[in-house]
Amino acid sequence: TDDRALIKSLIADVQDFPKPGVTFKDITPLLASPQGFKAAVDQLVASAPGEIDVVVGMEARGFIFAAPVAVALGAGFVPVRKPGKLPRPVYEEAFALEYGTETLTMHRDAIKPGARVMVVDDVLATGGTIGATAKLLRKLDVNLVHVAVVMELSFLNGHAALDETGIDSYSAIL
Ligand code: IMP
Repeated sequence: TDDRALIKSLIADVQDFPKPGVTFKDITPLLASPQGFKAAVDQLVASAPGEIDVVVGMEARGFIFAAPVAVALGAGFVPVRKPGKLPRPVYEEAFALEYGTETLTMHRDAIKPGARVMVVDDVLATGGTIGATAKLLRKLDVNLVHVAVVMELSFLNGHAALDETGIDSYSAIL
């Protein structure tokens, strides 16, 4: 669609960031464009399969997209955060990064068991972030029905991990 071409044109490739050999996808031009930001949110919203009770977004760039998607769907928003940020009891899930590990947390009572949940993030790379989020959601006993991202880095094959879980997923651009 035109939306997707516009989105693609507004994501910049930055060579050697955050370290040599890595090409970083910079979404800040997309966010700064009124038409582009709206197109991205519209695409994520349109991908939702039916009623969604809660949209979950991951710190930090996931928040930017998940919040407007939640409002558009008439859903709530629940944050997934780095350790030490949420004030009440949390579940934690650690996952491997290229160097070291990362931990994500969610309030234990953030979502009612059985709720229909959609996860939104900016970029799907290795799938570690979304995989850990899916595990947190399993601890909360909710129904993760859909994962939507603005962009998937297909060469990193993060999709494979999702496909194994059978969870429905969508990427606005590849
Ligand atoms: P993953 O866990 O390897 O799938 O990495 C996805 C997470 O890292 C997302 O939360 C993204 O915000 C971030 N990320 C990884 N690569 C990029 C990139 O090229 N641009 C922007 N964010 C990225």
